[in-house]
Amino acid sequence: MQRPVLVLNANFEPINVCNPHRAISLILSGKADLVLNGRGVIHTVSREYPEPSIIRLEKMVRRPRPRVRLTKREILRRDNYICQYCGQHGTYLTVDHIIPRRLGGQHAWNNLVAACPSCNHRKGGRTLDQVQMYLLRIPTEPPATATYIFGRHMHDNQEWGPFIEGW
Ligand SMILES: [Zn+2]
Repeated sequence: MQRPVLVLNANFEPINVCNPHRAISLILSGKADLVLNGRGVIHTVSREYPEPSIIRLEKMVRRPRPRVRLTKREILRRDNYICQYCGQHGTYLTVDHIIPRRLGGQHAWNNLVAACPSCNHRKGGRTLDQVQMYLLRIPTEPPATATYIFGRHMHDNQEWGPFIEGW
């Protein structure tokens, strides 16, 4: 499997991950520098290249304030893979709209929580008041720090730590 490459902005702010081939083409075209290798080599038809772990863009890229993407994966990660109704740690968690969509509930961070299948079934498209269920904590949008955004890669890429902390 291809390992992700951390992309730093010119000011060293972590901004993205890309695949190794994209990283190498950025380096070869002079758009990025290799910051950290340490992963051996990549073979192409004609030659081999050091496989990057971290690269840094030559030119500063301007971009809006980062936000955590609102996806099922990120909702479960925010909630530590714990059902926000019964507290059970689960592998097959679903995402529940606290205020059901048909009652005008938004598809938004503060209306979405991880829920185990049985709590989701029990709640069944009703409001918390109607079913007398309670949330473990009030859900909010997670902070878009680099540590949070790139956190899911950290287990496999410990060497990124010093480049991610503090952003
Ligand atoms: Zn539950």
